[in-house]
Amino acid sequence: VLVRTSGHALLYDAGPAPPNGLDMGEAAVVPALTALGVASLDRLVISHRDNDHAGGARAVARRFDPAVIERSDAAGGPSCLAGESWNWDGVRFEYLHPPRDFPYLGNESSCVLKVSAGAHAALLPGDIPELIEARLVRDADARAEVLVAPHHGSKGSSSAPFLAATAPGIALISAGYMSRFGHPHPEALARYRAQGTRTWNTATTGLLRVRISDHGVEAPEAFRALRARYWRERAPVTD
Ligand SMILES: [Zn+2]
Repeated sequence: VLVRTSGHALLYDAGPAPPNGLDMGEAAVVPALTALGVASLDRLVISHRDNDHAGGARAVARRFDPAVIERSDAAGGPSCLAGESWNWDGVRFEYLHPPRDFPYLGNESSCVLKVSAGAHAALLPGDIPELIEARLVRDADARAEVLVAPHHGSKGSSSAPFLAATAPGIALISAGYMSRFGHPHPEALARYRAQGTRTWNTATTGLLRVRISDHGVEAPEAFRALRARYWRERAPVTD
């Protein structure tokens, strides 16, 4: 997910690069960022170590030379620390998870990033499962009009209490590579419907753009020009 403010760019996760497979960081993410006019990255956030999120990081870092790289599996503890925040061009960025001393546990350790423009926010929760969703409901302000569906819309995430707390109008499901795992799960989709949240699935839409400002959130727009074959191709990656 690319997050841009008027003067800054952050990339959250970099796509898969399976052993003996195509490096999607190199083949898809780098060309897409270039096509979008990104010259350099101010931050690269790798939510967790799973290949479908971290695999492409090396190729992306090589090309865009991010000033800061933050990841939950950093040596010495997570560098995307709950409570840390910064401001770019009037847009507030804050990590909600993991807290300091949280052990690296894979999906459970995903960096959770909230991006707020005035009263309107987007939440990027990586692959957190229901247990971590419950922690966010309890300990954080998770309210966000735009939610990237946790763990690609799997059955064990997007719990009803979490959706009630975030109250998203729009959920974006990144499922292209993961469709062989059955993502998104029908039960998760039913929970979004029950919450009144509209869902967009990148497996069918390709790249999506959502604009958030002080004035509100515009409906997602599919980037047809960048709807390349590889966004929907199934890659041999682990979940
Ligand atoms: Zn994943």
